[in-house]
Amino acid sequence: MSDDARVYSYSAVLMGSPILLKLFEHNEPLASRVFHLIKQYEDLLTVNRAQSQVMDINHAAGLNPVSVSRSVYALIKCAKAASLVPGGAFNLAIGPLVKRWKIGFKGDSVPPADDIARLLTLTDPHNVVLDDAQSSVFLTRAGMEIDLGAIAKGYIADRVRDYLRQQGVTLGLINLGGNVQTLGSPEGGWSIGLKKPFAQDNALLGAIEVVNKSVVTSGVYERFFELDGRRYHHILDPRTGYPLDNELDSVTIIASESLDCDLWTTLIYGMGVEKGVEALRGRPDIEAIFVTKQREIILSSASHYRFTLLDDDYRLTV
Ligand code: ADP
Ligand code: MG
Ligand code: MG
Repeated sequence: MSDDARVYSYSAVLMGSPILLKLFEHNEPLASRVFHLIKQYEDLLTVNRAQSQVMDINHAAGLNPVSVSRSVYALIKCAKAASLVPGGAFNLAIGPLVKRWKIGFKGDSVPPADDIARLLTLTDPHNVVLDDAQSSVFLTRAGMEIDLGAIAKGYIADRVRDYLRQQGVTLGLINLGGNVQTLGSPEGGWSIGLKKPFAQDNALLGAIEVVNKSVVTSGVYERFFELDGRRYHHILDPRTGYPLDNELDSVTIIASESLDCDLWTTLIYGMGVEKGVEALRGRPDIEAIFVTKQREIILSSASHYRFTLLDDDYRLTV
């Protein structure tokens, strides 16, 4: 179990998030190398600084294609494909709206409706033009911006998992600001807490036990601001330009790859429970836990994890 006395925990703050690494051995140098690896990937992918490979693409919007490393190109290609999934809310070109709302950053505010309408025209994923031969990305209109904020942590969590495995680690866990990725099977599996929405005291709704899986939750309670009694959270609806509004307080995805978890939390957020369950029917490797505002917990399936309900105020349906 994750509270085993043989577990050594290492923490850091990277990507503006708390990072936790758990190992079954005392190995400070390995932990340092893992944190260094996370920093290197952040440097490639961030849009919160003036320069990164993604920012190089953004700065050249409307001007010219930019060649990037094979791995960044592959990630952007995957993000573009997800952006074209019908009904899903994921859009890699959402950048101009994210920057305008600034949700979770200093200066967040509700933009005027005509600003939102104008910025929406700069978020069409079809205008992210890819060239496999050159590994290049071209944003065809000035003002367009790629934002990988919804998937960078998942992608990096997977790279950390790969690195640990390559270093001979057989048991480990990385929590990258809420993206949990696990390696191996400690006795009883890894137990991951599912947070109660809006709880002040880190209360848990349930426990998710997994082996060799990633667990990721996207929730409207994670980052938001309030104005005139309304709450504005950080997952934007690419169809409207406003924070997504539906029956969900959170979606958790359990899958082998944390990148898939990230993509599917956002995809499913846009679909809601019914369409979300339907979309996952053909994907037995991707499983979802929906938490609704009506205090229901709905499991799309539970083949690759075990869920234990810890809160009597919630009703569990499978
Ligand atoms: P975090 O892990 O930091 O809580 P999420 O994984 O929930 O973040 O994703 C939210 C982030 O994704 C936002 O801060 C923004 O950068 C980006 N984002 C917001 N809306 C969308 C969207 N519809 N599609 C893709 N990315 C989005
Ligand atoms: Mg995330
Ligand atoms: Mg999140």
